This record gives sequence, C-alpha cells and structure tokens, in this order.
Amino acid sequence: MPIMYMPVKVLWGKGAVAKNREVFVALGSKAMIVTGKHSSRVNGSLQDVTDALDANGQTYVIFDEIEENPSVETVSRAAALAVEEKADFFIGIGGGSPMDASKAIALLARNPEMIADAEKHLYQKQEVPVYPVAAVPTTSGTGSEVTPYAIMTLHSRHTKQSIAYRIFPQVALVDYSYLKTSSRNGMINTCVDALAHMLESYLNTNADEYNRMYAEKGLRLWGSKKEQLAGAQEEYTEEMYQTFMHASVLAGMAIAHTGTSLPHGLSYPVTYELGVAHGRAVGYFLPGFLKYYGNQEEVQEVLQLLGFENQEAFAGYLNSLLGEKQIPEELWERDRRGLLSNQAKLKNYPFEMTEETLSKYI
Ligand code: NAP
Ligand code: ZN
Repeated sequence: MPIMYMPVKVLWGKGAVAKNREVFVALGSKAMIVTGKHSSRVNGSLQDVTDALDANGQTYVIFDEIEENPSVETVSRAAALAVEEKADFFIGIGGGSPMDASKAIALLARNPEMIADAEKHLYQKQEVPVYPVAAVPTTSGTGSEVTPYAIMTLHSRHTKQSIAYRIFPQVALVDYSYLKTSSRNGMINTCVDALAHMLESYLNTNADEYNRMYAEKGLRLWGSKKEQLAGAQEEYTEEMYQTFMHASVLAGMAIAHTGTSLPHGLSYPVTYELGVAHGRAVGYFLPGFLKYYGNQEEVQEVLQLLGFENQEAFAGYLNSLLGEKQIPEELWERDRRGLLSNQAKLKNYPFEMTEETLSKYI
C-alpha cells in the first residue's frame, strides 16, 4: 500500500544547531556524538553541537573514529563505549558515514546483548526499541538525516549493505554553511549521490504522484546549479551550497519512500573493492540506467527537470564531471551477477533486467 511518511523534524538554515539547541533536551540526558576523524572539527559542526549541549547543561561523550563506509566492527566498538558511558541519545555529525553509523549504534547500545554478534543482529530484524538519533549533515549527498537507512561495510562479505532496521532520526539540523570546507571533488561525489537518489526514486517501482514531488523539486534545484558544480571551485557561491543542500534533503526524502535501485546496487562492490567514493561509484552507472530504462517518456521527464536536451547531453555532462571509470572486467562481471541476485534492488526496478542489458551500462 503506498504511503507518505516523513517523520523527521527538519530544522534548516544558517546557524540551525545554535538556534534550535532545545531540540536536544527532549532526546535524552547524555549524548554520544558520532563523527568522523577530522572534517566536523574543521567545518565547525562539532563545536556547534558541543556548544549547544553545554548551553543545555547536557553531558556527552564523543566517538570520532567513524571511517568512510563504516564497518560493523566500528559501530560495535562505539556501541560498547556508549553502554559503558550510559549514553541515551545519539547525534551523528558528518556525511552519510557518521549519520548511518549513529543509527546502528543507537540500536546496538539500546540492545547491548546484540553487540557481541552485531553482524547477525543488524541484518535480522526483530521488534526492539532504539535510542533517539539526531543528525547534522555536512555533505550534500546522502540525505541520511531524513532516511531510515544505515549502510554498513561487511568485511565478511566484501561489500556494503543496508541494515535490516528502518531508523529515522527524530531531528535533522541542516546548515549548508558546513559544506564550504568541502573540496571540489568532495562536492561532486556527494552531489552526484543526491542526483542518483532522485533519478532512482523517480524511476522506481514504488514511485507515485505523491512521493515524486520530492524528486521533481530536487531535480529542478540540482539542474539549476549543474554548470556551477562542474566549474571552478572559486566560483562556488553561498547560493549554490544552499541549493545543493536542499536538493540533497529532498533526495533523501524521495528514497525514504521508494528505496534506491540498480545504480546503487551496482556501486557497492566498486566502492568496496576499488575504494571509489560512494556518489562517484553510483554516478558511473547513471547514464546506462537512463539509456536502457524501460519507460523513455519518464526518462524525458527527468532530463527536462534537470535541464538536459537529451540522453547524450546528460551522459556527456556526467562523464566529464566524473572522469574515467576504471572497473576491471572480472569485478564488473561479479558485480553484474551479484546485482541480478539482489532481490532488494531488482524489485525497485519496474522492468525485467538481463545480464546482456546490464553489461551495456558502462
Ligand atoms: P562520508 O563517507 O560521510 O565522508 C566522506 C569524506 O568527506 C570523509 O573524509 C569526511 O571527513 C569528509 N567530509 C564530510 N563533510 C565534510 C565537509 N563539510 N568538508 C570537508 N570534508 C568533509 O561521505 P558521504 O558521501 O556523505 O557518505 C557516504 C556514506 O553514506 C556511504 O557509506 C553510503 O553508503 C552512505 N549512504 C547512506 C544513505 C542513507 O540513506 N542512509 C544514502 C546514500 C549513501 P571525516 O571522515 O573527517 O568526517
Ligand atoms: Zn547514495
């Protein structure tokens, strides 16, 4: 049954954390701040959150060891520390990696008996409580602040996979000014991820008149700044950062309703084996996804929203933005076979997919 459901309170704008610090009070008494090694210190987001908690008189512990594409091992370690420290709410600060990690940690810390065998428990859903999560995004890519997904690296299986639980943050504090410390490549990788979310959501088995409004609006915004994104970083403007942050949140809301599709499924082994950043790896497959999509009228609709004349213009733009794709044939073959047995992704694609068509994606 189709459903519209967006339970996250989104507070956005410059200074969002400081201006809304009272939202943390309702979440719990002691926070665990979940973040990466460097960037949240550089862009000011960590300071903003600790200042807010201090001003509220709330205590906290910081776990700042979340790596890109966080592993089950790392979230288990953080959860054990959270239990020891008696943290009862979680604030993910950073890109998708720390935000996703904060959801998994909130689940494990609330159910400490799961920690010893976290991989099994994260991927076998049970009806269990979860501690509250707040999210502060510092990339304009994943939309994890408004999605229920948490994607973990599974070293045991040499890939990445979303955990079996749907955990929406209760609050998202969205301040585009944190994006300004990002490199040009960092912006490109993450903005292409948001683009993929909207395309894979609009062209999706679960797409409908209601949930498509997120992608429609987001694609228009994204398209309005596409030339600037491809240009020199010195030309990046305040308005551009704000536009891509809005597009990324809307893209997150879109996939929260529909899930992602084939390009995301194909990207995980590429990221795991070659270390290609998430959004870039997904972007490799977008031109093929559009070209071979079963309903070309709908493809025209998304191209129009983005402001591209046709498929070729889209592919040309994206290929020059992302540069050369180098995926060894052996990996590409294994990747295709893996996708064709990935029911979770295939069911979001409204048409039949064959190995032959898939092999033309790159
Ligand atoms: P990320 O892995 O969170 O971060 C990538 C890099 O960017 C890190 O080195 C990080 O540094 C740095 N960084 C973050 N914010 C920055 C800023 N404002 N300025 C400068 N550098 C900054 O990147 P991401 O693309 O946002 O997230 C990718 C992860 O999210 C993947 O695991 C992906 O599978 C997942 N994902 C989740 C969803 C979802 O719905 N939940 C959707 C799509 C993707 P530090 O390490 O120092 O912080
Ligand atoms: Zn993504």
